[in-house]
Amino acid sequence: AKVQGKGHCEVFDARMHAFAINQLNLETDLRRALERHELAVYYQPLVNLANGGIEGFEALARWQHPERGLVSPLEFIPVAEDTGLIVSIGRWIMQEACRQLSAWQAQFPGLQAKISVNVSGVQFAQPDLADTVLQVLEDARLEGRYLKLEITESVLMHSSEGANAALGRLQKREVQFLVDDFGTGYSSLSYLHSFPIDVLKIDASFVRRMAVEAKHDEIVQAIVALARSLKMEVIAEGVETLASLARLRELKADFGQGYVFSPPVDAQAATHLLASRPHW
Ligand code: C2E
Ligand code: CA
Ligand code: CA
Ligand code: CA
Repeated sequence: AKVQGKGHCEVFDARMHAFAINQLNLETDLRRALERHELAVYYQPLVNLANGGIEGFEALARWQHPERGLVSPLEFIPVAEDTGLIVSIGRWIMQEACRQLSAWQAQFPGLQAKISVNVSGVQFAQPDLADTVLQVLEDARLEGRYLKLEITESVLMHSSEGANAALGRLQKREVQFLVDDFGTGYSSLSYLHSFPIDVLKIDASFVRRMAVEAKHDEIVQAIVALARSLKMEVIAEGVETLASLARLRELKADFGQGYVFSPPVDAQAATHLLASRPHW
């Protein structure tokens, strides 16, 4: 048993070593990814459940690594956060997404679609957050009312007065704020009063299981009711089946996002999607 124990230990060490090297390589590669144009923005439609049209898109980062292939944001965003690279990467993603929407507005006159961009905790804590966002909007010639910033519940819970002031400045320009992964963070809801929140995005874990577990259906109902009483809009993410789509319509959730409509797609495919004026 002793020998086996030692063996396990060596295997473990080897794995830890491999993991550490992997992270190190990722970090080095990530530093070069921006200059080498390996990062891209994908777009996933947010659907207005009342009329079935496209309400907007969420911008999602993708990394086309020369050797590893497509690296998931679940893998590289944490590395980007740990190293502070998320500040320049996040800014680039916001720029790219705003420029793309501005281009779509020129191509499709009267387009009312909005763009949602994820803002990580590290970005949210930057003292120049508001200046950065306003500069991006100006460079892209995009009005603030077309931009939504997605901030996770846990980041909002831990944020400072400074961040709150930044949101206030952006709110004056009609930028909207959305609580991402709502329901997974913390039990206290007091932050909902402290920040100018416009939209709650119900976490996919509730939406995916609502059809099979009554409890999850009830949680979704409760979040929709909470959003109503706080005069906020509500998005359901992770809408994968026609059954959950039908149920969300019954519950009068405002918007849906998920594979039942479309996965995240590249800019060209998103342009085709807009041109085809889908109706779900
Ligand atoms: P998120 O913000 O919760 O984004 C939603 C994720 O759910 C996306 O994963 C999307 O592709 C996936 N998804 C969409 N529809 C469905 C569905 O019907 N079922 C299921 N199971 N999943 C669905 P993705 O693109 O891999 O991104 C993962 C996470 O990485 C994001 O979660 C977000 O936290 C982070 N992330 C992605 N892009 C960025 C970014 O530009 N900046 C920051 N800070 N974080 C990002
Ligand atoms: Ca998000
Ligand atoms: Ca989410
Ligand atoms: Ca999530």
